[in-house]
Amino acid sequence: MSHDRGESNPTTNYINSLFAPEDEKLQSIRLALRQDNKEGINVGPYEGKILNLLVTLSRAKSIVEIGTLYGYSALWMARALPANGKLYCLEVDKENAAKAKALLAKTEVTSKIEVILGDATETLAGLASKGPFDMCFIDANKSGYMDYLEWADQNVRSGGLIVGDNTFLFGNLIKDKSNSNSRVSENQIKVMKNFNESLADPKKYTSVILPTVEGMTVAIKN
Ligand code: SAH
Ligand code: MG
Repeated sequence: MSHDRGESNPTTNYINSLFAPEDEKLQSIRLALRQDNKEGINVGPYEGKILNLLVTLSRAKSIVEIGTLYGYSALWMARALPANGKLYCLEVDKENAAKAKALLAKTEVTSKIEVILGDATETLAGLASKGPFDMCFIDANKSGYMDYLEWADQNVRSGGLIVGDNTFLFGNLIKDKSNSNSRVSENQIKVMKNFNESLADPKKYTSVILPTVEGMTVAIKN
């Protein structure tokens, strides 16, 4: 299940060790992921730091994360929220949601985080009344990215951020044989192309793909 997220890349290692060292809380989430053979599905340290920086730069107070796994990216983001900030963590898998809850409960940001169990296509509808939100981080099933973008478009405030992870779709978007993953379906490729092309529209967004190993599309909603 785990991907190489660049941890074996010397450049990535340099950035991680200098700019994104993990404290024991982040390490404990990584360890739990490793024990369950899920390490590498989460963002890497420098990607977590980028998210942390985006929250700080945008002064976001309310964030929706779609796809939480064990809460690794959530911890990076929540740490940049003000004391009265809120991060809603959407997760469809019962065990993942339970792990995220338990691991995040041991951190200093637990009061800022709410883990919501269920299929995001359903739980997002119920969350809309708590919006508009300052930021939406999309990192769940890749086939759902356009649905999530549609929701984010309606529920992130003007000037807010929409961020998508893995937007190079594991090397399958720009055909790179060395890094492509045959488990990716034609539909997922279509959806991810559509996702990036939608967010590239300068009339609607100020945006770019940050060329992380996985690709991270970042857009300010105009
Ligand atoms: N953001 C996490 C990694 C998320 S991995 C991090 O970087 O630490 C993707 C997660 O999305 C998985 O835990 C998976 O169970 C969840 N997921 C997949 N489909 C989903 C859906 N329809 N609704 C909510 N979560 C979903
Ligand atoms: Mg991801």
